[in-house]
Amino acid sequence: MYNDENISVGGITWENDFSPFTKDNSVFWFRRDLRLSDNAGLYHALKSNKNVIPLFIFDSQILESLEDKTDARVVFILNSLEVMKQELELQGTALRVLYGDPVMLYKKIKTKSVYTNEDYEPYARRRDKAVNDIITSNGGMFKTFKDHVIFSRGEVLKDDGSPYTIFTPYSRKWLATMKNFFLKSYPTEKYFSNFLNSTPLPFPTLQHIGFAETQVEQPERVIKKSVIKTYDKTRNFPASEGTSRIGVHLRFGTVSIRKLVRIAIKENQTYLKELIWREFYQMILWHYPNVENGSFKPAYEKIQWRNNIEEFDAWCMGQTGYPMVDAGMRELNATGYMHNRVRMVVASFMTKHLLIDWRWGEAYFAKKLLDYDFASNNGGWQWAAGTGCDAAPYFRVFNPALQAQKFDKALEYVRRWVPEFDTKDYVRPLVEHSFARNRALAAYGEALN
Ligand code: FAD
Repeated sequence: MYNDENISVGGITWENDFSPFTKDNSVFWFRRDLRLSDNAGLYHALKSNKNVIPLFIFDSQILESLEDKTDARVVFILNSLEVMKQELELQGTALRVLYGDPVMLYKKIKTKSVYTNEDYEPYARRRDKAVNDIITSNGGMFKTFKDHVIFSRGEVLKDDGSPYTIFTPYSRKWLATMKNFFLKSYPTEKYFSNFLNSTPLPFPTLQHIGFAETQVEQPERVIKKSVIKTYDKTRNFPASEGTSRIGVHLRFGTVSIRKLVRIAIKENQTYLKELIWREFYQMILWHYPNVENGSFKPAYEKIQWRNNIEEFDAWCMGQTGYPMVDAGMRELNATGYMHNRVRMVVASFMTKHLLIDWRWGEAYFAKKLLDYDFASNNGGWQWAAGTGCDAAPYFRVFNPALQAQKFDKALEYVRRWVPEFDTKDYVRPLVEHSFARNRALAAYGEALN
């Protein structure tokens, strides 16, 4: 049961407390930036105001859409808030937590100004516009800052002012535009005394918001410099710990992108390039919001997908008979993570070998990935399906067996997740590789002619 005043689940109630919000106070609203240090919006809020209330809203619009009530992302958020709560208490202030639809809640929040960091996802853009209208119509200010990326929307454009659609020239311009100035930390600590004084406050548990604990392990909040140093050599091998496992921390802002880019510049250019891919997809989503539901290249909307439900279920469960694909899907289901090389293989397999609409896979990943990010996930899926902003032609169809030979030669990754793979208990392949490849090429060819 939920209304704007409280949420009640199984007899446990969380009451929203609006009393501290007055016209004398300002608010800093945490979203994708769950950290106190080097936080752009928080820095500006504290520097320009006294009595700043640190606020987090459990957004009912998002939480109610999550089917799995042990969703590891919600657990990650709550754990990260706990860390901030303790840090804030040391500063003599308290993190306020509300539950509900932010647009409705802001109708009840009286404040001089709301500061927050930009969020480029389509839902967030609609929500922020509505919140901005409410705050400003009540005589307040709604101020947003760039924090999640080094360069946002209009900062890396072609010379004629239009957005890039191909990664390589974008990354060249990104590098040419980048100066130390963009990587400087925001010294939020200098202004901590401008938080609103408060004694510690009650804090919600997972049960209050209708969720429960999960077995999924949360990657540590550590930037592994030793991994980044050798990233170019190790990043393609899913059996080893050759990537930084920082995705979820970038997604929720528990690590600063400025700090990470400074390290990448010093340690490894290949790693830096991956961080630029992240910004590329954010930029694409901003300029081409139609990718939310449609192919970046509209001609690909004509593909006649087979969309066989039994085959899709087998793919989801890691029962396709292709060991590399099955290992990846089982890793995803068990841990909320999948190695990038394997993400490419499973996505190519689903869209090309099974001819299932990329949006089905995109939605499945959105449910399962701990580091789920709308822009990177959509970009990754459209890249694999060949429908996206990518210079590579659609007839690149990964051969899952060759990918395993190349990147998991000793079959260590496959054995870890598909222990039965070389026994009679292992499922037979759903489809034969060359047959599937030709079928995919025919379907794509037909759509494009
Ligand atoms: P590392 O390899 O250590 O890279 C460091 C960081 O760089 C990553 O955390 C990520 O923020 C960024 N990065 C690396 N590769 C890419 C890439 N190709 N595109 C965009 N950013 C990249 N990444 C997400 O963050 N969220 C997603 O929902 C997501 N979905 C994907 C779906 C598909 C089909 C594919 C092919 C890729 C997807 N990726 C996604 C990109 C990539 O797989 C993950 O960022 C990476 O595997 C996360 O692990 P890591 O932190 O160890 O990455």
